[in-house]
Order: sequence, then C-alpha cells, then structure tokens
Amino acid sequence: MPLSEFELIDRFFRGCGAKRTDVRVGVGDDAAILECPAGMELVAAMDTLVDGVHFPHGSPPGSVGHRALAVNLSDLAAMGARPAWALLALTLPAAEESWLSEFAAGMSALARAHDVALVGGDTTCGPLCVTVQVLGHVPRSSALLRSGGRAGDALFVSGTPGDASAGLAIEQGRLPGAGEAAAYLRERFLHPAPRLALGECLRLYASACIDVSDGLLADAGKLARASGCGVEIAYEMLPVSQALVGGVGEERARELALTGGDDYELCFSVRPAHLARLLADLPPQRWGYTRIGTLTESAGAQALRGGAVMNFSTSGYDHFLTLT
Ligand code: ADP
Ligand code: MG
Repeated sequence: MPLSEFELIDRFFRGCGAKRTDVRVGVGDDAAILECPAGMELVAAMDTLVDGVHFPHGSPPGSVGHRALAVNLSDLAAMGARPAWALLALTLPAAEESWLSEFAAGMSALARAHDVALVGGDTTCGPLCVTVQVLGHVPRSSALLRSGGRAGDALFVSGTPGDASAGLAIEQGRLPGAGEAAAYLRERFLHPAPRLALGECLRLYASACIDVSDGLLADAGKLARASGCGVEIAYEMLPVSQALVGGVGEERARELALTGGDDYELCFSVRPAHLARLLADLPPQRWGYTRIGTLTESAGAQALRGGAVMNFSTSGYDHFLTLT
C-alpha cells in the first residue's frame, strides 16, 4: 500500500536533524514557531537541486539529501552565520520508501552534525527536485559580506578546489577513476563539507567572503565586483590535492581548481593590517586554507601564470549554458 503524505512526513521528516529547545512548534502544525535569540540577526538562504541538473540522475539518495542541505549551510558559512533551522520542499515522482529513507538519513546526519533542526516543509508529486531553506544567526551587524573587500586585500581559499568537479566527472563516467584517489574525489562531490566553523571564526578577520559553488575564479570575481574592485589569482599558489593531480595531471588540476564547481569551500579577503593576526590565530595548516591572490584596483577576475594573464573559455560553470 502506498504511503500517504501524512505517513511519509511523519516517518521520514519528523525528528529529522537535531533536537533544539528553540523550536517551539516544528513539523506537524501549519507552520513552525521558532524562538529568536536577543541581539542576533536572522540569516536566511535557499537553494534548489534539480535532478539531472545539479546532480546526476540516479545519484545515491543519501548524497542528494546531504548536498541539498550542505549547499545551503555553505551559504550561511560564507556569511559567518551559525545555522539553526531548515525547511525542505521536496518534489518526488513517487514515494519510494528505500529512496526516502536514505535521503532523509543523509540530510539528518549533516543536520545533526551542525545542530540544525528540520522544522517544516512541503511535499509534492512531480519530477525530482529538492529545495532547502536554512535559517541561522549572526551577532548584530557582524555578518561577512561579499562587498567588504578593498584593493590590496589578500585573497584566500579553503580546502583544495577542483576536487568536486573531478568527482562529478568520475560519477558521470567522463573521467576514468578507480582506487583510493577516485573514491576521495567522488566523496568531495557527493558529500561536500560546509566550512561553518571557519566562517564563524572569519568574522573577526575577513573583510569579505563568498562560498565557492560555481568555480573559484568566477566566485572570486563576484566577491571583487561586489567590493568594487578586481581580483588576481596566482596559478602557482592554487592548492591542489594529490588525488586531483594524480587523476588529471598538474596542469588540468590547476585549471579545475580555478573553474570547477561544487566545491563549497570559502573564498575570503583579509586587510593587510589583519594578516599577521589571522595567520597566528587561525594557523592555515590547521584550518586548511591558502593564500591565492590579491584584490586589485582594476576591475575583473584574472588568473596569472608566471605573471601572464590566462584565458579560459568560461571562467566557471554557468547554469544557463546547459539550457541552450
Ligand atoms: P499544509 O497542508 O498545512 O501545508 P502539509 O501536509 O503540507 O500541511 O504539512 C504538514 C506538516 O508537515 C507541516 O508542519 C509541514 O511544515 C511539514 N512538512 C511537509 N512536508 C515536509 C517535508 N518534506 N519535510 C519537513 N516537513 C514537512
Ligand atoms: Mg503544505
């Protein structure tokens, strides 16, 4: 007998994620009631994952649940915010129990890891599509914005960008991959880790921040443009993983680090006067971030190799390119 909508919500989504005392009414009533802490601002983000567009058709359901939440948590990390609550709008072709159970488990594990409660949502029938909204907090007037950078600020990135795009290529059979390195790269696409702890700490050091979802060069360019300046990234300074270099070679690895999407790392700028404090308080080796460039007076985002400007056909993954 097929699950009713009520049974489906009750079984898979009530109790999904963390239990929080600030949830006065969660899943089950017409709307959630949430208690907001004094002195904090509410930070809200929402992102949609469409089957076959943002993840390959037939992706592991646990990964779809994880990623739908992770991409939103990453947006909060980029603001320096701490997440608290999530809402889920789920459109499903059919109520398949094993799919739902793995999907909910994937989302719930990540939500619990970051103390996020699922407090509501909507469930509809149609082509697979997952929208998550996350709500979080930041102390008043202390959020990190894209627009706070200035020419002369140093630019950093966390992690090793490019890994997720290679992982996706392996998932789709566009890149051959076997063994430990391939498993690592696939994992970077299937289960990205939103950099929430780093984002919160950066409130005290960074002038601007953005999360890297469309490609490092493109997203650094968005930060620079919002800050009214340009950006230069040094090809030689890009952090690339051993797994990526082993899989595609040094050259292609650095190109993917600049243009590949889906990494959900943080790219941030720091005033020269705050650099010493950043490096002392948040040691780069421990926190996993690397200096990659500088914000500049002249507009635009450029990658420099041996001091010469590199050219790319596209400086990042553009969602609209897939629709032509
Ligand atoms: P209504 O018809 O009043 O919108 P629904 O039947 O859609 O009520 O939802 C009932 C309850 O279940 C609400 O609290 C809603 O927020 C929650 N809910 C529905 N779908 C989901 C979902 N996919 N994940 C989490 N909560 C959900
Ligand atoms: Mg509803």
